Formats: sequence, C-alpha cells, structure tokens
Amino acid sequence: LRTVAQIPAYHAARQPDTTAITCAGLSLTYAQLHAESNRIAHALIASGTGRGDRISYLGVESTHYYATYFACAKIGAVLVPVNFRLTRPEVEHILRDSGSTLLFVDADLRTAVDDSAEITVLGASADDFEEWTSGHPDTDLPAVTGPDDAVIQLYTSGTTGLPKGVVLAQRSFFAIRDSLAAAGLDWIDWQEGDRSLIGIPGFHVGGVWWATQGFSAGITNVAMPRFDATGALKLIESLEVTTACVVPAMLRLLLAEPGASKEVFASVRKIVYGGSPISEALLQESLPVFDCDFAQIYGLTETGNTAVCLPPADHVAGSHRLRAAGRPYPAVDVKVIDDAGRPVPVGEVGEVCLRTPAHMTEYWGMPEATAKTLVDGWIHTGDAGRLDEDGYVHISDRLKDLIIVGGENIYPAEIENVLAKHPGVADVAVIGVPDEKFGEAVHAFVAARPGADVRPRDLLVFCRDQIASFKIPSKFHFVERVPRNPSGKILRRELREQFWSGRD
Ligand code: AMP
Ligand code: MG
Repeated sequence: LRTVAQIPAYHAARQPDTTAITCAGLSLTYAQLHAESNRIAHALIASGTGRGDRISYLGVESTHYYATYFACAKIGAVLVPVNFRLTRPEVEHILRDSGSTLLFVDADLRTAVDDSAEITVLGASADDFEEWTSGHPDTDLPAVTGPDDAVIQLYTSGTTGLPKGVVLAQRSFFAIRDSLAAAGLDWIDWQEGDRSLIGIPGFHVGGVWWATQGFSAGITNVAMPRFDATGALKLIESLEVTTACVVPAMLRLLLAEPGASKEVFASVRKIVYGGSPISEALLQESLPVFDCDFAQIYGLTETGNTAVCLPPADHVAGSHRLRAAGRPYPAVDVKVIDDAGRPVPVGEVGEVCLRTPAHMTEYWGMPEATAKTLVDGWIHTGDAGRLDEDGYVHISDRLKDLIIVGGENIYPAEIENVLAKHPGVADVAVIGVPDEKFGEAVHAFVAARPGADVRPRDLLVFCRDQIASFKIPSKFHFVERVPRNPSGKILRRELREQFWSGRD
C-alpha cells in the first residue's frame, strides 16, 4: 500500500466482511467502504469535480466522512474538513480560501454556512448520501493518483490570525510507517481484530492520520460523532476497544469518569497520545489505570502529524524519559537552532526544526508563508526545545503565540482582532494560562476606552457569533493599559509571567 486511494480496494479483496468503520450505530465493512467510496467518487465526477478540486466537509464524525475522504483520494480531489465547532465567519474563510466547489454539511450545522456562498451545498447524513449517489455505479475507477497527489487540506490557525490550509499528499500518511517498517520497528504494531478508537476528530491531522493508519492495517476503526468521556468509556467497554489515539485532555477526562478503572480499560492494549504537552503527573496517573502500552507522538499539521515518538518502552513509571516528547523516527531528522538559524549544542534550548518525508506540500495559495515555515526541507516548528545526549527531543515552550486548549489550537491574534472591534475596547492582549483540566485556558487583558462601561458579559456575547466557543476567553482582566514594546508588539511574556512562573 502506497496511497490512501488504494486502501479500500486492498482490504475489500482480502477481508471484505471486516468492519472498517463504525460510528453512531452505522458501520461499513471494507467491501462496503470500497463500494461506497466508489459511488461517491462517481457522483463527484458527475457533479464536475476533478483532480485538484477542493471539496469541503462540515460535519461531526461519521462513516460517510471517511467514505468521502477515500472517494476524494481515488479521483484526486482534495478534502477540506471543517471543524464543526467553528462559527459562520470562520467557516466562510475556509470555504472561500480553499475555493471549494462543493460542501457536505450536517443538517444542524447548516446555519454555519452563508446562503449566499457560491458553492453547491449537500447534506451529509447517510440518507443524503444515499439519495445523492443513487444511480451511480460502485464500479472501480481508474487509478489516477499517486503518493505525491494532495489528498487533504487541513486548516490551522497562524500568528496572523487567519487560518492557513495545510496541504498534505497521500505520501504523508505512509512515510512514517514505511520508515519504521524499514528499520524493523513496528511501533504501532497493529494486530488482527484490533478495534481502534479515533479520539481526535478527523478534521485534525491527528485524527485523520490515526484513522488512515487503522484503515491501511485493515482493522476496525471506531469513531464518535463528538468526543465525550462518558460515551467513550461506554464504547471502550461495549466494543472492547484495543487501541486509541487521544489528546492529553481526553486522557484526563477519561480518568475522571465515574467508573473509570483498570477493569473497564481491560481490553485496551495501547494508547497513543499527543497534540499538546502532557504533564508528568497526568502521565503517571494514567499508566496504572489504563495498564497498557503508551506512545506519545509529537508533530504538527505541517509535518503530517507525528515526527517524534516516545515509544512504549520508555513509558516506565518514575522514569525521567517521561519528560521527553520522544525520539525522531528513522526517516526524520531533528535540529535545534538559535535566532540566527545556527544549530545549538546538545542540551541547549532553541527552535526545534524537523525534516520529515511526511511534511506538507504547502500552505494553500501562500508561497511566502510556505517559504518561511518550510526551509530547505526543514519545517520550522515554532516550538522551543532541546535535544539530550540520547537523541530525545524535549519540548519546553513555544516561540509562536499558540495556545492549546484541550486539543484545539488557538492563536491570540485571532481573538484580539475580534475583541479590538468592540466599541468599548481600546486595546487588548490574549494569552494562555495553565489550566488543570484542558492544559491551558484563554485569558484576555482588556484596556477599556475612557468612559466606556464594558463588562465581561458584553465581550462574551460579542465574541459568540464570531469565534468558536473554545476560543472565547474564560476570563477577562481589565487593565489600565496593555504592555507593548516601543514598536507596538504586545509583551506577552510580561503578562504570562504571573501565571507560568515556578513551572517548567
Ligand atoms: P497541530 O498543528 O494542531 O498538530 O499543532 C502542533 C503543535 O501542537 C506543535 O507545534 C506543538 O506546539 C503542539 N504539540 C503537538 N504534540 C505535542 C507533544 N507531544 N508535546 C508538546 N506539544 C505538542
Ligand atoms: Mg493539535
């Protein structure tokens, strides 16, 4: 297997009756996944969709989301999944920026789409798909795509505030696996009969990457429309889930569930986690309760998900290794550089750069931004970290302004741009502060206009229509003025200090 496009046919031929994906009571076997993705592919072609065209999908996790992903892969169209928690202006930006010609949308998310949008809008329920594809054959299509063809475009926010479309080729989903196999290190180590929970939703790189690994191994994937810990626990027990990919915040929520116990997690043999830093305490707490293998992954959407991994062997209770993000895969190189771009000595902190065969093709339509992040094959991560003598990567901080709440990325500029438009706000700065439950929380520092009577409540309401709920500050601090340097840049460090001092 070398491409996403090949996966359904490959397993439909070998194990047609194995369940490929189950979600919310609907399931597709590999034979059905192949037939269904063929039908969608034929319908896409009939609607005028061709190679390189962008197709947006705004919906909760479903069997059809993944069938559409494979359909796009088969015909060389590029799937643009949209986070279902985004608001209308945020969704609009993605539809416009990607130049999508078609949009699949869940009925109850329809209000997030502007009626005047110049795009064909189709429903995303099982019935909608059945109706839309009826009359189209499920016959195989000519293989037109290869490893270098773009397959998905994932939107990630940036320092400037407007999300950029990260284009990933089919190769990105195989490069790491292949490099592991070549080195005889099958870290994921899929086993026949595995039932794999897709904890991270498929509109994030972690989710679609994990799902693709599972599909390419021919095991059973288990998705949830929206992650919730109670539902996840029930699924783990009832379906005897064997492996799962989650963000640290999901681990914490699972542990906090009433009834979470070694017995409930008895079927689980491997947990893969990443997407944000994990505290050593949460990790130490998780090890005995899940009582299984753990693997940490570190990477970015831009690196095609994981480039660095802390394997199960390093997850020994009490080990200092638990503080590392992991080691690079055989095909990945890591360097840590200073402000001038020079590599720093082992042990010193600088910007972590990753050279990986899974890296993005580009930021869609943004050659300048691409050239800044992808330099001579190296992805500049914006993460601060160091390498130790044994080649382990330690992530210590972020050079970029990114805040990660649960698994969702938030850039302060995006929130600041919205709040600055409020008539009562003279100036505003947004930072991330430590949060027990979600790793970080969003706080805003607001300088009100003289004479203006602004309350936190007004600002909350003001934000609500413009930015997704997870981005809205959980606390507003009213200040005389926002600290800025002489060139006007917000002195975020100064604001952060009071919350982060005493932590590592
Ligand atoms: P995303 O593009 O959404 O995958 O976010 C990538 C960012 O998430 C990275 O640049 C890191 O700041 C953070 N991140 C991802 N995985 C880890 C990890 N294992 N440990 C610490 N930070 C992580
Ligand atoms: Mg993330």
